[in-house]
Amino acid sequence: MLEEKQIVCSVCQGEFAFSAEEQTLYQEKGFSNPKKCQSCREAAKIKRRNRSKLQVVDSEAPEPTWFNSTCSSCGVATRVPFEPDSQKSIYCRECYRVSI
Ligand SMILES: [Zn+2]
Ligand SMILES: [Zn+2]
Repeated sequence: MLEEKQIVCSVCQGEFAFSAEEQTLYQEKGFSNPKKCQSCREAAKIKRRNRSKLQVVDSEAPEPTWFNSTCSSCGVATRVPFEPDSQKSIYCRECYRVSI
């Protein structure tokens, strides 16, 4: 039977309990022991989530170059994040949504 372990969090240096049930679970899944306490793990998760959400408006991210084009379906002026290819149909947001 496994015993509860005390692990020092690599982020906040606080000790946290790694319970026997968690150890069993981690072993079953082939995970190595956690290095972060519950709250730091949660914080990292939230940070990760926020980052992916902010990616579009992140000023450090390279701005996609937008090209002016015309929708092949309804003829409305639209912009596409790639160079329009005359071989391919360009759809405005509305028509694209309908097409998929
Ligand atoms: Zn921590
Ligand atoms: Zn259209």
